[in-house]
Amino acid sequence: MERTFIMIKPDGVQRGLIGDIISRFETKGFSLVGMKFMSVSRELAEKHYGVHKERPFFGSLVDFITSSPVVAMVWEGDSVVTSARTLIGATNPITSAPGTIRGDYGVTIGRNIIHGSDAIETAQSEIALWFSEEELATWESCAKSWLYE
Ligand code: UDP
Repeated sequence: MERTFIMIKPDGVQRGLIGDIISRFETKGFSLVGMKFMSVSRELAEKHYGVHKERPFFGSLVDFITSSPVVAMVWEGDSVVTSARTLIGATNPITSAPGTIRGDYGVTIGRNIIHGSDAIETAQSEIALWFSEEELATWESCAKSWLYE
């Protein structure tokens, strides 16, 4: 089973979208294995977005992520990394398809509501950055045999 890191960004929290976003992952058939509501330190935000540190938007992105609490989560399921990116939609909400989270709720790239790991290796490093082993629950959903052949 694959795992991915998902974060509801400060705008998603402030706009009251936590419940809807969690529902989308739950009803799709993925299993929640870790979740915390937290304020993000500059150090953590800079590490998480370290790949973008030379980009012009890096400073404002770190300011934004640290400006208000986020919901950090780990979700599990078959091909969850790719599938979560599909549920989330394209980075720029102007072009994200309707029906995706960013497509339904976002207007601008700097306020695009949610983060999802872009590859299996990224997911592994992001999960390790945001969660300790003890914060992740290993369990099996009773719906598993109805979700998977
Ligand atoms: N971002 C931004 N301005 C840009 C490009 C990206 O503010 O011109 C922000 C945006 O919040 C995005 C994040 O930086 O979600 C990370 O960018 P990435 O290209 O990794 O997109 P993602 O993986 O989040 O779709």
